[in-house]
Amino acid sequence: MKIAPLQVLVTGATGRTGSLVVQKLQQLPDRFTVRGFARSCEKVEQLFGTTAGFYFGDIRDRAALTLALEGCQALVILTSAIPQPQGVPQPGQRPSFIFAPSETPEAIDYQGQINQIEAAKAAGVNHIVLVGSMGGTDENHPLNRLGNGNILIWKRKAEQYLINSGINYTIIRAGGLLDQPGGKRELLIGQDDSLLTNPPEGISPSIPRADVAELVVQALLEPDARNKAFDAISKPEDAPNAIITKDFAALFVRASYQ
Ligand code: NAP
Repeated sequence: MKIAPLQVLVTGATGRTGSLVVQKLQQLPDRFTVRGFARSCEKVEQLFGTTAGFYFGDIRDRAALTLALEGCQALVILTSAIPQPQGVPQPGQRPSFIFAPSETPEAIDYQGQINQIEAAKAAGVNHIVLVGSMGGTDENHPLNRLGNGNILIWKRKAEQYLINSGINYTIIRAGGLLDQPGGKRELLIGQDDSLLTNPPEGISPSIPRADVAELVVQALLEPDARNKAFDAISKPEDAPNAIITKDFAALFVRASYQ
């Protein structure tokens, strides 16, 4: 019997990881029908050459989300507050960043994600895949000082809201994101920042965006990814004895339930 494709909405569809997820889902038309949610028509045109299949709005606009989610079975959340550089750094000085007052991590990563989770719940979505960030167990993580935004704290609170929502979830807490090709590395998953505080020797806690996008696609397909939250990093491409990850079901089995 032929299974109907899963109807999926991807928010942050013009983002660097979100756009990769949209492209990967579009390449599997037997398994997925994909919609993108974005706030800029121009960016969508630039990235995808068309606006067909895209819904436009802000994630704080519940009505726009409701329209986009109608009939969807799954939601992928790939939105994030984006810090803006503040001034030009003097030679030898570090650049400093600021969040626009209406675009703080509290507004985007917390309230904006709650809005997406609630809209999905009301639309009858039964699985949400959320890409978050490693580092959330440490309130003093330097990223929290960036623009005084406490970004990891707000992201973690939104994750907890999702866990408590009653909807099936997969939370992928990525290490530092790299713009490098995917499918060329062994992926490692861990729990509660152990790969950050105690990484295996010679491995930096980072992962290509393309590999995170593949984890999202596989999480939508594999039942063992459900109701799990895990950290994800990769071994370097040339790591000795690395086994390129292809069996995602086995990888998700190793992630513990939360
Ligand atoms: P990104 O390129 O910064 O994309 C963020 C997306 O969110 C953009 O598409 C942006 O839209 C959208 N967005 C922001 N505010 C919005 C709003 N109010 N309404 C609608 N859309 C909105 O993301 P990324 O760098 O691929 O990161 C993906 C995720 O991984 C993020 O949650 C990030 O925090 C996390 N992460 C990042 C790192 C890292 O090293 N950078 C490490 C670990 C985890 P526009 O395109 O219109 O701006």
